[in-house]
Amino acid sequence: MKRIMLIVLDGLGDRPNKELGGKTALQAAFRPNLNFLASNGTNGLMSPVSHGLKVGSDTSHLSLIGYDPREFYSGRGPFEAMGLGMDVRPGDVAFRANFGTRENGIITDRRAGRIRDGNSELCSSINMEIDGTRFFVKEGVEHRAALVIRGSGLSDKITDSDPHITGKPAQEIMALDRSAEHTAHVLNQFLERSREILDSSDVNRRREERGEPRGNELLIRGAGMAPVLPPFGEKYGMKGACVVGIPMISGICQLVGMDVIKHPGATGTVDTDYSGKIRTAVKALKDHDFVLVNIKATDIAGHDGDPILKRDVLEKTDRAFGPLRDILGDTVIAITGDHSTPCSIKEHSGDSVPITFVTDGIRKDGVRFYDEISALKGELRITSNDTMNYLLGLSDRAEKYGA
Ligand code: ZN
Ligand code: ZN
Repeated sequence: MKRIMLIVLDGLGDRPNKELGGKTALQAAFRPNLNFLASNGTNGLMSPVSHGLKVGSDTSHLSLIGYDPREFYSGRGPFEAMGLGMDVRPGDVAFRANFGTRENGIITDRRAGRIRDGNSELCSSINMEIDGTRFFVKEGVEHRAALVIRGSGLSDKITDSDPHITGKPAQEIMALDRSAEHTAHVLNQFLERSREILDSSDVNRRREERGEPRGNELLIRGAGMAPVLPPFGEKYGMKGACVVGIPMISGICQLVGMDVIKHPGATGTVDTDYSGKIRTAVKALKDHDFVLVNIKATDIAGHDGDPILKRDVLEKTDRAFGPLRDILGDTVIAITGDHSTPCSIKEHSGDSVPITFVTDGIRKDGVRFYDEISALKGELRITSNDTMNYLLGLSDRAEKYGA
């Protein structure tokens, strides 16, 4: 049986760019290694989760490793919390949160003047335990934060405290069914205690002195329970690992029981150590059957709307891929994206992404270049839900469907 490496270039897919003479970033990049791998593999286009669907990195990665998000995804809360590097465990309930400003019981600013300084201090001041339920709050960018609660008998069938508009009080958390009454009760207690703590905090006293809106109300929304996912090792009989720079994806891998291999240079930014990351992943194949690699920089360049940067990131990525040529004898490699992030729209889109499966002995389909348009000449038109089927089949691990 061969080993498997699944390489996800985040936000890989692009559309034509004026700055690149009408080419996508991939088409414009000098990419001899990617072209070598495509020339020796089976190619085509992959639609993340479903054809034409605009997806997030969380749903797409779940799908790529064989957990259909339409069955397993439970809302953004737990994944955003993981994205902040929080420890999220199956059964935890997580929320997106903001610090807002409350004056005489009314929310006057849902972002507390985009509070920056003291955000982390405010968060840590309201970590607490109430009746055996633990509350963890961690800061995000600016006024944003996440709340994770852990305890027995929790439910995510509850309403938001965030009124979503100013001029109203924060809402009392309501249970949407009987099973959620306990959760609503402890959350309301937590929010009440948080108000007292935040009102008297030094951070807010200083903000008041400077005439800035206080961050004295944690507004929570989008409750989601971290899904209980079948462990990767049991599902596939493979020992899995990931080498990724972004906490949201390593959080997903942790949820399914993969080893998270830290590589100090893997930063999840455009300055990431591309070669080190690939070397670490190749090394991880020695004691793992399956290694997932995510390179985030392509998505960042897409969100920045910078096709030159996206092209340059792809060239750096390509240079790091040299060692992959040497492992095709005993490894199946897939190279794809988790969605498109076209520079021209600076957002994720439902456009498909190229995918290459490559290993010795595979059917070569005559595609010679790795990019969105050349992939049209390839054999495959698949969704990300099919990816693991191909990988298992090509590595001689597939179980027969039927007799
Ligand atoms: Zn992504
Ligand atoms: Zn993105």
